[in-house]
Amino acid sequence: MGSLRKYKEKRDLSKTPEPSGTSGSDGTGSRFVIQKHSAGNLHYDFRLEIDGVLVSWAVPKGLSLNPADTRLAIRTEDHPLEYIDFEGVIPKDQYGGGTVIVWDTGTYTNLRRNKDDTEVHMHESLEDGKIEVRLYGEKLSGGYALIQTRGKGADSWIIKKMKDDEADARRNPVSTQPNSVLSNLSIEGLEAEEKDPST
Ligand code: MN
Repeated sequence: MGSLRKYKEKRDLSKTPEPSGTSGSDGTGSRFVIQKHSAGNLHYDFRLEIDGVLVSWAVPKGLSLNPADTRLAIRTEDHPLEYIDFEGVIPKDQYGGGTVIVWDTGTYTNLRRNKDDTEVHMHESLEDGKIEVRLYGEKLSGGYALIQTRGKGADSWIIKKMKDDEADARRNPVSTQPNSVLSNLSIEGLEAEEKDPST
């Protein structure tokens, strides 16, 4: 089980609608989510379920389907599993203040193998600074590699689409499919709904 200490330290859970992180794992396996987060700067929070928490990176430009694109990914604090379907408006004066929608979600498989063809555990991949996963999302699918860029600070990683059948330099879902896969709402649509639930 990963630690949610930083998650809880950063938040006043009496003032944010975000999950408290008390209910723990439901044991259903390996899921991922990409949350579009309109905070100070718009970014995409990529989270992988590993050992009972959501290991997380903030990706300013979002994930690409083009293997030629290298996207910066800043590792952030682990989030509780209940965060996987969180959408809402975090008050402006709170940590991460802004609006969150679930931009894509689904399951993943681990692609990294040892020489003897056994699986490299995800927690080992995290320590190695090298993760290779296959996503099964609604917008994104196929292999993605996350690589820690040593020397530029421990929290700095890059994420790239791997070359496979799902790679597609012509599709750009970050711009063509901007809305939530859960509510179908845009960031602005969710904000309008929270202000006036009758609309
Ligand atoms: Mn964020």
